Amino acid sequence: QSRNPAEPEFYQAVHEVVESLAPFIVENPVLMKNKILERMAEPERVIMFRVPWLDDRGEVQINRGFRVQMNSAIGPYKGGIRFHASVNLGILKFLAFEQVFKNSLTSLPMGGGKGGSDFNPKGKSDNEVMKFCQSFITELHRHIGPNLDVPAGDIGVGGREVAYMFGQYKRLRNEFTGTFTGKGLDFGGSPLRPEATGFGTVYFAQEMLKTRNDSFKGKTVAISGSGNVAQYAAQKVIELGGTVVTFSDSNGSIYDPKGITTEKLEYVMMLKNAIRGRIKEYAEKYPEAEYWEGSRPWKAKCDIALPCATQNELNGDDAQVLVENGCYCVAEGANMPSTPEAIKVFHDRKILYGPGKAANAGGVAVSGLEMSQNSMRLQWTPEEVDAKLHSIMINIHETCVKNGTDASGYVNYVNGANISGFHKVANAMLAQGLV
Ligand code: NDP
Repeated sequence: QSRNPAEPEFYQAVHEVVESLAPFIVENPVLMKNKILERMAEPERVIMFRVPWLDDRGEVQINRGFRVQMNSAIGPYKGGIRFHASVNLGILKFLAFEQVFKNSLTSLPMGGGKGGSDFNPKGKSDNEVMKFCQSFITELHRHIGPNLDVPAGDIGVGGREVAYMFGQYKRLRNEFTGTFTGKGLDFGGSPLRPEATGFGTVYFAQEMLKTRNDSFKGKTVAISGSGNVAQYAAQKVIELGGTVVTFSDSNGSIYDPKGITTEKLEYVMMLKNAIRGRIKEYAEKYPEAEYWEGSRPWKAKCDIALPCATQNELNGDDAQVLVENGCYCVAEGANMPSTPEAIKVFHDRKILYGPGKAANAGGVAVSGLEMSQNSMRLQWTPEEVDAKLHSIMINIHETCVKNGTDASGYVNYVNGANISGFHKVANAMLAQGLV
């Protein structure tokens, strides 16, 4: 902790992995001697830079940009870009560290990275977002490339922002390469990339439920967030016969006991993606729904919970309330949304709990498929990509069960994901020597 002061999220992420791996590593002298875990917890490179831009009033604005290039043992750095006022180095280091294990779990050849800025896109005009993205890439372009580091979206970075960044990258480099994923379908994007994280989370949860001969059919599902991951997780739950009853944003949550239908979901997509409104407006349009100002959705009675907003959005008390209300399956669409205290409640109560680095790996998996399509200069159909995504999620689930089942038969998916993700990266690092 003294080595990384003021980086509590990074410390939390590393601590969890060390807890899972320690018993295995201490019995393996080669891993101990080569300090593999210590090396994995140190980024290969961190780039931190000034992002100056002019707002619509002609005033100078300064933000801070980052790219954390964590580990390239098994492939080019790969991971999203986050634009949110809360972004700092510690948060991006935690995300980049998790990304290394997640990318390895997908079985595709991708290293781990993450980047972003404390730029807050809320309330900014399209023109301001474009100017910011152009300035951000004017510096970052020299540190990324199709065989070096391939960024994508994350919180505050969707199709619009990726397109602006890609446009500026192409202009500065004078070449058209697959350096970003999450691009528009007309310029190298993969079908199903927008849906991939949400769909993948539900596919993973579906596999978890199957271990108890269960399914989404007829189940009540609480979802947090109302952005990219939350929207497509909801779409897939509805398709599978479940009833979604909540959404949230950073101001509050809505609870619709009658269920968020396909038509209501279309409204949420329009509200969040086109007019960039607040989730509160859902309760104004649909009076059967309640709006809980400043509150998370976890007090809603549900069978399954899918946290899809942000880190540490579900604490020990929330977990207790969820479990007491009958929730028995939690699959994380977001990165590290459950605090260590919440995870302890899930494990102590032996409910199904799928951590983000396994459950939300579908997004980066389809990004990997986008890289392959770009290299081959072709585009697969949505059905082909969906089939590959589904089989990758089934495979990740199987690997977690294999490495995470304890003596009592309970599957600890945290251990399963950490151990499975670690092997390939550690072996590659050992083979490549002290680099
Ligand atoms: P979006 O920006 O599309 O949506 C984020 C959602 O979370 C919004 O509803 C936002 O509300 C809410 N939110 C953000 N910060 C907070 C906060 N501090 N407190 C409460 N709510 C908050 O992002 P994504 O859907 O892409 O990402 C959601 C999560 O999924 C993140 O943890 C991300 O790292 C993870 N993830 C995303 C992947 C992807 O492919 N996009 C891949 C793998 C993981 P508001 O509108 O008020 O900001």
